[in-house]
Amino acid sequence: MYTLLPLAALAGLASASCLHGTSYLPRRSTGNNTIEVAKFGYTGTTGPVLWDSLSADNVACSAGRFQSPINIADSSIATAPNPTSYTLPTGPLTFENLGSTVEVLSEASGNTSALTFDGKAYSLKQFHFHTPAEHRVSDEHYPLEMHMVHEAPSDGSLVVVALLFDLSTTAATPLVKALAAALPAIANPGTATPLGEAADMADIAKHITSTPLRAYAGSLTTPPCKEGVTFLLATEPLPLDVESYNAFKRVVKFNARFSQGALGEENLLRVFAKENEGRQRAAANETPASGAEEAPATSAPPALPEGQGEGDAATVPVGGGPGPVTEGAVSTLDGPRATPAARVRRGRWAGRE
Ligand SMILES: [Zn+2]
Repeated sequence: MYTLLPLAALAGLASASCLHGTSYLPRRSTGNNTIEVAKFGYTGTTGPVLWDSLSADNVACSAGRFQSPINIADSSIATAPNPTSYTLPTGPLTFENLGSTVEVLSEASGNTSALTFDGKAYSLKQFHFHTPAEHRVSDEHYPLEMHMVHEAPSDGSLVVVALLFDLSTTAATPLVKALAAALPAIANPGTATPLGEAADMADIAKHITSTPLRAYAGSLTTPPCKEGVTFLLATEPLPLDVESYNAFKRVVKFNARFSQGALGEENLLRVFAKENEGRQRAAANETPASGAEEAPATSAPPALPEGQGEGDAATVPVGGGPGPVTEGAVSTLDGPRATPAARVRRGRWAGRE
């Protein structure tokens, strides 16, 4: 049971999520160029393994079966046609530190930024950053990921364009370099600064319209972990100069959710909860009656299942849990789960194959 916060502390826990700036979660200014900061975090009891405990609205974080981010390792994650056009924001931009990320808000009067994808028009609401990157490609991770959150005025559907960045000693992405230079102005969570017209996003637009994309139907990677979000992920990274990377890391700190399970399969946190429940039931059944002669004087720590206790600790329980459940351990719980049908399902996105 995860009753860790008083009820009064639960209000507004979804603030500053990936929905920020959309019609689902309008931006809230607190005046004097300051903005509301996130209540969720990436460490301890406000971290990703307990996001569902922070608000009843966050149930998808632990129960959803199409959660993001994922490892793009499977060819069944569909390739997607490049957007036919990408119009860059023309209006003034605002750069904000939400505590959970740094974000550029593009919604302003006269802002005509638009993505046309799959025959539908979307407008760019904001873009923000994760360090390290959240999606992996063939298991490889990257130092930085940019999420461009678009909403369709026609029906409110969301498309997140995800761009990966890799370190380079010879090249840089002008937009990231410019934002890195502005980061000291928003070093503290809750602060904002105008960017003016200076953002050079030409190579961002070129990347989106010309490099290979993968698409899948996933979720927001932050509370409330809303599903039905179409991700368009560019698998080729953009260049990131070391100085900009260090500037981002210094302010953003760490804000990557752990890799989620295969699309359509049971949420890893549910898998863990069931596994833990089974262990506790087994331990209770094995507890000898009081006065039993065989009771040992000291108890040894419980044995870990195969594959557990090392690896990348994809899901780390807190509060005296029996230990981390690694992705490797999950597959041993109830036999192989990736049936051919499940593999086909992984490639499903937004109703397309
Ligand atoms: Zn994001």
